[in-house]
Amino acid sequence: MNPTGYYINGKSLTNLSLGCMRFPSVESAIETISAGVESGVVYLDTSPAYLYRSEEENCETWVGEGIKGYRKQIILSAKSAVGGWGQESGYNPAKGYSITTADQVYKQIDQSLTRLQTDYLDCYHLWAVHTPETFDEALKPGGWVEGALKAKDDGLFISLGITGHAGSEEIIRWINSELFDVITIPFNILDNSRIPAIKHAYEKSIPVLAMNPLAGGLLASSSSVLSSELDELGVESAYDMALRYCTSFPGVSALSGMTSKDEVNENVRVINKPTWTELQAKSVKEVLFSLLGSSQYICTTCKYCLPCPQGIWIPEVLKLRNYFSVLKMDSARKLYLSRSKNDDRFRAQNCVKCGACESRCPNGLPVSTLMEEVSEVF
Ligand code: SF4
Ligand code: SF4
Repeated sequence: MNPTGYYINGKSLTNLSLGCMRFPSVESAIETISAGVESGVVYLDTSPAYLYRSEEENCETWVGEGIKGYRKQIILSAKSAVGGWGQESGYNPAKGYSITTADQVYKQIDQSLTRLQTDYLDCYHLWAVHTPETFDEALKPGGWVEGALKAKDDGLFISLGITGHAGSEEIIRWINSELFDVITIPFNILDNSRIPAIKHAYEKSIPVLAMNPLAGGLLASSSSVLSSELDELGVESAYDMALRYCTSFPGVSALSGMTSKDEVNENVRVINKPTWTELQAKSVKEVLFSLLGSSQYICTTCKYCLPCPQGIWIPEVLKLRNYFSVLKMDSARKLYLSRSKNDDRFRAQNCVKCGACESRCPNGLPVSTLMEEVSEVF
C-alpha cells in the first residue's frame, strides 16, 4: 500500500485507513482489523460513541479485542467532543459528548485507554468541531485543549488531532493554531470545497484523513454511465474513482468504514493501483461534472431557493435526483429513501407546489415538478 509520506508516532501512515464505526459485531471488528493490518492499513479511527450498546459493548472495546497482537504496528486514534454532537446534550462521558473541562477530557482519555486495552494512544482528536464557536469553546482556559495537552505531556497519547465538518476557512484556522499534528475532514470527489484546506495542510506538513471518501456510500455502487465514460482513463467504477481521487492529493489517507475481510480486500485492490497525477485526477473530475452538467436540470446548490416552507432541503434532494437520473446510480435512490425515513428534509412528497422556490431559483428550475418526479420515481 502506498505511504502518504507522513509518520505518526514513528509509524508510516498509508493511504487507506480504517474507520471503526460500522462493525456489526466484535467478530467483524476482529476480522476486519486483522485483514486491514495484514494488508498495510495502519491507522484506526475510533470513538467512544460509535456502536455504543453498553460499557462492555462499543467501538472501543471491540477494537480493543481486534488490535491484540497488532498494537505496536498500528496508529490508534480516539476522540471526544466539546459539543453534544447534535444529538444529545449534557456531559456524557460514556459516549464522549460535551467534554468541556480539562479534568473531564483527561478522564475521557483514560476511559478510552481502558476500553481499548492499551496504555497509550498514538493520536487523540478534538471531535465534531463544526463551528468556530465550538473551536473557541475547546480553547478556553481550563477547557478541552488544556486537558488534552496535559494528558499528552503525561504520555497518554502522542499526536493531537482535530476533526469536524467546518469549511476550509475554519480548518485553516485550526491548522494555523499550530496545536494539531493531524486533521480529519470530509472530502470526496463530489465535495471539493475543502481543497484549499487540504493544500494548506500539505504546505504545513499536516497529514489529512479524508472522511466520507465515498460520499456517504453514494459512490460505493456502480454507474454504467460513469464506467463507460471513464473507461479510457482506467476507471472501473464510481468506487474506484472515489478512492483514487481522494488519495491523488498528496498527504491524504482515505478513511473508509470497512466491516469485513472482503471489503478490506476490495479497498486494498483499488487503492494499490497507481496513484493518479494531479492532471489525471482533474480529468476524471471534469468528466464526472460534465456528465452531471449534461442534465436538463442543473441545480448549482446555490441555496437561493431556501427556505422551503415545507422544510424540504431542495438542493440536496435535487443532487440525489441528478445522481440517480443522470449517472444511473441506484445508491442515490437508496440514500434518499434511507434519509427520508428519519429526516423530513428528504421528503419530496411534502412539496405543496407553492412555487416560492421557483421564483427565487436563478436557473429557472421547475422545482415542484422535480419534487413530484422524485417522490414518484424514487
Ligand atoms: S414548491 Fe415545493 S419545494 Fe418549492 S418551496 Fe414550495 S413546497 Fe418547497
Ligand atoms: S435556487 Fe435553484 S439552483 Fe439554487 S439550490 Fe435552489 S434549486 Fe438549486
